[in-house]
Amino acid sequence: MLFYRAFVFLLLSLVGVAAVAAVRAESSSHTINVAESQIKVHFVDRFTPIEQNKILYWLQQHAEAVATLYGEFPIPNARVRVEKAASAGQPVPWGQVIRGREEGVLLQVNPEFSQAEFVSDWTAAHEFSHLFIPFPGNQDSWFSEGLATYLQNTLRVRAGMLTEQQGWQKLYEGLRRAWARLRGLPDPGYVDVAKLLPIAYVMGLAMLLMGVVLIIGDIVVPLHLTS
Ligand SMILES: [Zn+2]
Repeated sequence: MLFYRAFVFLLLSLVGVAAVAAVRAESSSHTINVAESQIKVHFVDRFTPIEQNKILYWLQQHAEAVATLYGEFPIPNARVRVEKAASAGQPVPWGQVIRGREEGVLLQVNPEFSQAEFVSDWTAAHEFSHLFIPFPGNQDSWFSEGLATYLQNTLRVRAGMLTEQQGWQKLYEGLRRAWARLRGLPDPGYVDVAKLLPIAYVMGLAMLLMGVVLIIGDIVVPLHLTS
């Protein structure tokens, strides 16, 4: 009799655990649809419904921005694992691509940041952009990194999430950062684009002068190469 009771108790406990696990799993998995693609988002840690909505909105915005390249998300079925990085000083301190049978992206987030701060972070667009090509191997990862870094800004400009000026600024800052890293110097940080205006004037003046020279050479005193 005791054995029977213990067996029933064990069975009920198992059913209870399975039910809780099912509810938890269900409540933390969501699907984002982008064109024909399905992105399954799995919240690995506990996030409140408000935090989940904020994160899902951000992921949807970035997935749609990345889809502006071909009108499709890079892969038809993607997984996104979202983990908590509570004490981080930025919304998305870490992101990486997951390769293998189930391709996708792992993102570590600090949910205390606002929805706007999440949307203006570049990490999700960058990691999604990596999925456009297969992993090229460690030797050639520079190509994949360069491509994702270029697309993370270009596609956000295309989607209207960044202005054209912000896009150029981020591209320029990225090049400066890469150049500093190559020379072993510290991160040069942000660029005040207003300071780049003199360069635009010099370029404009150079093009104007070139135009004048060509007009004179073509029309006023045309050159005859054959005598
Ligand atoms: Zn990368």
